This record gives sequence, C-alpha cells and structure tokens, in this order.
Amino acid sequence: MVAPERPSLARWSMFALTWHLSVWVGLGAVAACLVLLMLAAGPSIAGMGPTLFILTAMVVLGELRPVVASSTHESDGVPMSWAFVFAALYLWGIVPALLLQTLAVVLQQVLLQRAPWRVSFNVGQYALSLLAAWGVLVAAGVSTDMATGRAFFNAQDLGWVVLSWAAFHVVNLALVAGTAESDGQSWWEAFVEDIWYYTFSMFAVLAISPFVVVMAAESWQFVPLLLLPLFGVYKTASLARQQERQALHDALTDLPNRALFAQRLQESLDLAERDGKGVAVFLLDLDRFKEVNDTLGHSAGDQLLEVVARRVLSAVRPADVVARLGGDEFAVLLPDVTDSGAAIEVAARIRAALAEPFRLEGVLMDVDVSIGIAFAPAHGRDVELLVRRADVAMYVAKGEQTGIEVYDAARDPNSPQRLGTVTALREALDRGHLELHYQPKVRLSDGAVMGAEALVRWRDRKRGLVPPEEFVPLAERTGLVHRITRYVLGAALAQAADWWARGLQVPVAVNVSMRDLQEVDLAELVVEQLDRRMLPAEALVLEVTESVLVQDPGQAVATLRELAELGVQSSLDDFGTGYSSLLLLEQLPVRELKIDRSFVRRLDDVGGDDSMVRSIIGFAHGLGLTVVAEGVETTLAWQQLRTHGCDIAQGFRVAVPMPGPQATRWLLERVVVTPEQATPGPRRPGAAPRVGVSS
Ligand code: C2E
Ligand code: MG
Ligand code: MG
Repeated sequence: MVAPERPSLARWSMFALTWHLSVWVGLGAVAACLVLLMLAAGPSIAGMGPTLFILTAMVVLGELRPVVASSTHESDGVPMSWAFVFAALYLWGIVPALLLQTLAVVLQQVLLQRAPWRVSFNVGQYALSLLAAWGVLVAAGVSTDMATGRAFFNAQDLGWVVLSWAAFHVVNLALVAGTAESDGQSWWEAFVEDIWYYTFSMFAVLAISPFVVVMAAESWQFVPLLLLPLFGVYKTASLARQQERQALHDALTDLPNRALFAQRLQESLDLAERDGKGVAVFLLDLDRFKEVNDTLGHSAGDQLLEVVARRVLSAVRPADVVARLGGDEFAVLLPDVTDSGAAIEVAARIRAALAEPFRLEGVLMDVDVSIGIAFAPAHGRDVELLVRRADVAMYVAKGEQTGIEVYDAARDPNSPQRLGTVTALREALDRGHLELHYQPKVRLSDGAVMGAEALVRWRDRKRGLVPPEEFVPLAERTGLVHRITRYVLGAALAQAADWWARGLQVPVAVNVSMRDLQEVDLAELVVEQLDRRMLPAEALVLEVTESVLVQDPGQAVATLRELAELGVQSSLDDFGTGYSSLLLLEQLPVRELKIDRSFVRRLDDVGGDDSMVRSIIGFAHGLGLTVVAEGVETTLAWQQLRTHGCDIAQGFRVAVPMPGPQATRWLLERVVVTPEQATPGPRRPGAAPRVGVSS
C-alpha cells in the first residue's frame, strides 16, 4: 500500500529482508500453486465451472475500482477484488485463491503503471498474507472441497473467518511497514499508521466475501448482483475522499491549502524533533500580482497563479511541500534541511524558476517574488510561530527588495528584542537622549558652503552613540518616527537660529520620510517652528527618503507643494536606491537630487564605473534640478564629480558629521561673515556665504 523505494541490496536491513522475503516466498508459493493446479486439480477446474469464471470476472472488475482509505495517505487503496479472492479461498482453498489474487495484483500494478520489481514485490507480499489467512482456516480445521465447493459458514465458523481476515491484514501491513525505512519511518510507526488508515476499508470489503460464497453455492448467477453494494461502498468512499481532498486543497492550483500545509508542517516538526533535524518554511509573495489582476483581468491572474504553482513545484524536490495559502501567497516546506545555505539555495532556485517572463493573454509579464525563510528549531518549534516568522522575513524581503530574507529577530516588529528597542527609544525621546550631528555640503566649483545636514544619533548608556540606521527604520514602522522628526526639526532649527544669529546664513537640511509627509501635519509644524525662531523659509531644506513603500504619495505631494510655496525647498535623498526612483522624482516637487553614496563610491577607484553618476547628473540638470553627491570620500571622486558638472558635494572628503559646537567652529572658519549678516534678527534670503574649502 505504501510505496516502497527499491532497496539497495547491499543493505541487509529490515527493509531489504522484507523485500526479499516477500518476493521469493510469495513468488515461490504462487509457482507451487500453479504446478499443483496443473498436476492435481486440473480435472476439477471443470467442477468449479461458471462460478470460477464469474469470480475471475469480478476480480478483474473489482481491480478497476480501489476503495481508497484517505486522500492524505499515500495509498493504492483497498481493491474490491479482495471480496472475491476470499470467496475463492473459502470455496476452493488456497490454490485457486492464490492464482486469482495474483491475477488481481498483476492487473492492479499494471493499471497503476508500476515498475516490474514493484509488481513482483506486491505479488509476493499478498501471497504471504493470503497464506496466513489460509493458515488460520487450516488451524481451525476448516477444509474445503475443491471438487464441489461448499458453503461451510455456520455459527462456529464466524470467529475463524474474521480471524482469517485479521491474519491477512496484519501480515500484509507488517510486510509493507518493513519497507517504511526508506521513508525514514520506523517499522512500528508505519505499521500503526497503516492499521489506522486501512482497517475499516479492508474489513468492509472482506465482509462481502461470505455473501459471495453463500450466493455462489446457491446459484452463481446472483454473484454479479453483489457488484451493486460494492459499488455503493466505492462511491461513498470516493465521495468522502473527494470532499476531504477539496477541504484540503486549493481548487485553482490543486496544491495543498493552508490547513493541509499546517498539518504537513506539524508532521515534519514532530519527525525533525525526534531525529534532531531541521525544517525550513518559505513564504512566497508575488510582487506584481495585483497589477496583473488589475490590468489583464482575473482570468489572467488565475492563469499566472497556475503557472507559478507549476514552476515552484518544478524547483523543489518531490518530498518538499508546496502550498497555496491564499491570494498570491504560496508556502514551501522543506522537511529535512541540514543548513541555512541549502535552504537559501532552494529559494534562489525558486526565484530563478519564476524569473522567466510569463506569457499571459499574449502579453509577456515579469513577475518578481519575495521569499521569507524561517527555520525550525532556530526560529520556533510550532507551526503558527514559524509561519508568522517566515511572513515577517517575507515582508523584509519585499520592503527592501532583496528577494530572499531569512528571519531576523532584530527586524521583527513583534520580537521581544524589537519591542525592547522601541521601549528604550521612547524613553530616550522622553529623556532627551537624542542628539544631532551636522555635516556640511559644499559647492564643487568653488567650495562655498551651501548648507549642513542634520543627522540624528541616539546616545544610549549601554550602547554608546547609536547610528540612525539602527533605529530610524524601526521608528518608521512603529510610528515613533513622527516624534523623532519633531525633535530633529526643533533642534536643527534651534541650531540654525544660532548660526544665522552669528551671520552664518547656512540652510540646515532635515531628513523626513514619506511617512512623515503623509501622516503628520508637517507643513504647519515647520511654519510654527520657523516663526518661533524668526527664521526665513530658506533656512530649512527637507531631505525626503522613502525607505518604506508608500502606496499613495498624494498627501506627501500636497505637503511638499505647500511648503515649496512658503519657500521651504526639498531634496530627494538617496536617489537610485530602494524606492527613491524616477517615479518618485516625477511626482514630488523637489528642487534638488542627492545621488546615493553607493554610486558615488564607484568613483573612488581609478577607472571605476562613472556612467551612472554621469547620467544621473545629466538628466537631473535636464529637469532643472541641483545635484548633490553624497558620500564623497576621496579627492579622485571630488575631481570627477567636478568634471561631470555635479553641483554640490557632501562626504568625509569635506567633513564628517560633527556635533553642534564643532560644526559651528568649522563653519566660522570657512564662512566669511559680513558685519551686515552678523546682525541678529529675522533674515532676508542671504547671498551664498564665502568659504575656503580646498577644491
Ligand atoms: P542620509 O540622509 O543619506 O545621510 C547621509 C549618511 O551618510 C549619514 O549617515 C552620513 O554620516 C553618511 N556619510 C556622510 N559622508 C559619508 C562618506 O563620505 N562616506 C560614507 N560611507 N558615509 C558618509 P548617518 O548619519 O548614519 O545616517 C544614515 C541615514 O539615516 C541617513 O542617510 C538618513 O536616511 C537617516 N537619518 C539620519 N538622520 C535622520 C533623521 O533625523 N530623520 C530621519 N527620518 N532619518 C534620518
Ligand atoms: Mg539625508
Ligand atoms: Mg542620502
């Protein structure tokens, strides 16, 4: 019933033993029966007459319709032909029964297109089982008369008959369980599992056999009538199976659904715990599924999901489970992983399988997929936790466009570690433990100071000075970023007020995320803060970054417009990375574009690739934007940027970010302050201060 793999003959294990025993003893018995029938019983075949003929026909018909025990259990089912094989056993004894059974098994295996070695295993296996049933009858002293056939069922036979079924069933399952080693299961586990699955169906079919005997003894013409109740059993079983299947499978792709996935994962976790193995769970999400649905229609969406299902299946091993959890969300279970590298390799294979464009409604579509991975036992030991953590990893992969991410507690908004950080950050805000450093921006042509960017830091008692990258993204996801922005805006403008009071008319740049522009009434806050410090709008620049994907930038655009009308300019930060792209540039009313330092870095080597930087400068100028290069670390980069016509540079080559007083000294050394500029009070938009940075 359970499919054994062909055993390696070198391994003289339980498996190999079972295999050899079944095949040789069984085949031997069948051959002996054939010989016996030829020699001794040959003449009596005539006596069996039409009954033998009809039973053979029933066996053949019965083989075409196995009664299946369970849709979740790998199974050939229990064929209806057993009812007739057992009838033959009771009527004429082991020899004709074995021959009928061999016919049945060969037919079944051929119908299932099984390999010849499987056929011989099954013939042997069932022959041994039937011999066991016969043994019970012999022990009970029940004999049959092959020449005449006789119905021997009377009250005292009943127990023996049922016992003969039990003997058949137990020997059969014991032999099959011996081959379970190849599936990594112990003999006893497989045996108990199979008893659980098959006993009812097997007994339901065998219970028909006495009726076949009684009818055949009275008048064989009635025997075919038994097909009706048998067909009823078959129909009920197959309906139940169909319903069970529907409840556990996705109708569109025919993949296991969430419930079956959870069941399979639980089984794998139990096995893995026992054997000290690892399990990996992947969650897959198609990045552009909604777009396909909206533009090409739902039938194209369905078609896409079907192809995705097939491609994912083709990228994993047969033992791995691929499921559709709903919508465009798929899950993969690797029941046996040794290290994370192997799992990441499988994930990469899945991405490669989906990388090829999909042809939908005659249109070629690219669909990217984000995969989140969680491992058991490292990330959790239960189904729910593992799936949730793979989900968190998947969102990180999606948000950061990295494709594949392994779960990392530090990036999980729900992990205790993260919650601890959020609490600590909230406390830091309450107690004023955040501070600002300032990094100047200078004009490439003459070194004139064009502004200074305020960069936040968190001074933590235990961790020292924490860089923004370690807490700003977390703050963005938890909404704390609004409080940070309020603080930064207040502190940066206080610093600017001090500078402007000293005649250093240097605009201060503050970083705001798209989240800020969407959810806070930022324009009002900015105006209020500028008024309070009596600063002109030119004293402030907003640097906009989009580190989390914002679906609808409408509100952000409105805020920036309002501020631009008031004279507060904005700049698009980190251009070329993440979501800070052409699309955003087209939508946002910005005056300035900052080339991300990852591109600028390429200018640090002699002969490095400067094509990106050159083209960004070219097209930004075409749009009338000022271009700032960030992360300028070397003189080589500085010179190239100057050659390419970049306007402004910022980076360690000019100055590192400095605390307020130090930044003030730096500025005072470079900006020549005229007496007129040194007068305190509200400022008019100042001429660019003069400066002395070497160029
Ligand atoms: P950013 O706005 O692109 O800021 C520039 C970052 O590049 C700063 O890192 C700065 O120290 C670093 N940097 C400057 N010159 C060089 C250089 O020559 N080489 C290299 N390798 N790096 C250089 P920092 O201060 O760690 O800030 C990182 C990011 O954190 C910022 O990137 C910004 O996106 C975010 N951030 C900083 N302050 C704030 C803030 O107040 N609010 C918000 N929302 N985000 C902030
Ligand atoms: Mg910035
Ligand atoms: Mg930047």
